[in-house]
Amino acid sequence: MDIGIDLGTANTLLYVRGKGIVLNEPSVVAVRDGGRGAPAIGDEARESLGRTPDSVSALRPMREGVIGDYEAAREMIRYFVRKALKGRRTRTRMVVCMPTGVTPVELRAIVQAAQEAGGRTVHLLDESMAAAMGAGLPVDEPRGSMVVDIGGGTTEVAVISMGGIVTSRSLRLAGDRMNTAITEHIREERSLLIGERTAEEVKLEIGSAWPVPDDQALESRTCTVRGREKINGVPTALILTAAEIREAMHEPIEAIVATVQSTLAECPPELAADVMKHGIVLTGGGSLLPGLAQRIASATGIGVTVAGTPLECVALGTGKCVEEFDSVSTKVLTPAT
Ligand code: ADP
Ligand code: MG
Repeated sequence: MDIGIDLGTANTLLYVRGKGIVLNEPSVVAVRDGGRGAPAIGDEARESLGRTPDSVSALRPMREGVIGDYEAAREMIRYFVRKALKGRRTRTRMVVCMPTGVTPVELRAIVQAAQEAGGRTVHLLDESMAAAMGAGLPVDEPRGSMVVDIGGGTTEVAVISMGGIVTSRSLRLAGDRMNTAITEHIREERSLLIGERTAEEVKLEIGSAWPVPDDQALESRTCTVRGREKINGVPTALILTAAEIREAMHEPIEAIVATVQSTLAECPPELAADVMKHGIVLTGGGSLLPGLAQRIASATGIGVTVAGTPLECVALGTGKCVEEFDSVSTKVLTPAT
């Protein structure tokens, strides 16, 4: 059996050859009783994030694109692979995608975990390449395509041509940093302490990167948050507006825009011309933020579209590789074993 794995900082997806995406769960591990109990992983662990009692600690092993917790990352990948394979430990070929920037040691740990979970051979696929393939871009053609994958922990920008990455940049911030920016704004400007989950809810409810003219409904929307008052800890509720939250997220948004601009500036002129002609494609959950495509379009003067199912592009890209394993393997895949 061949499987593709998108090991994201926020979500992990598994693609099984002939079946499609069979698993899509948050990359979260909750360790119980100081590590003595079996950890809860994925969907089971998500609920405990930010509201764990002292005996439980929930962590995100892939936070910010690097493996923050080695052992937890191994447990997580083993658990997901076994779940997807439903206990059938057949000898499997795997295509694994990870954020660029993981160190060789971290990579080794993940490859080993994949092997322990049944991976006979493990191949590595660049995340931007996977995103572009999953978004349906013509990666093999001699024409420049730009893909911007905005995940939880990292933003990957790449220009691809003839099956290879020509120019790329990796930024260690994405959706998570937008949440942190919201949390900090509400703490500093409104004196309210809120948790990570609440900040995420605010972003999904009223967040935007740019005033969206054709979405008046969003502009007038407000949202009520509950938290603790900064000074005296009293539970308090506040009303937030879309404009206020847009301002709060300004910094991370502009960092993403600047990374797109500098990648364009670095890429060979012919390929930049192709990108200008054909546009930029956004993938990853962060691309769903209203107005982000418009913001990038206005900064670059290039048309920007969001891929069809942005949260699934990387997994679908690994899927393309496992479906046509032998024809693509020598071109875009790096054997890890
Ligand atoms: P990763 O590949 O790092 O696991 P994903 O591509 O799964 O990341 O995207 C997760 C990120 O997308 C999270 O930060 C989440 O808050 C963000 N996200 C998901 N849906 C939306 C949305 N509708 N608007 C804004 N951000 C979103
Ligand atoms: Mg991703």
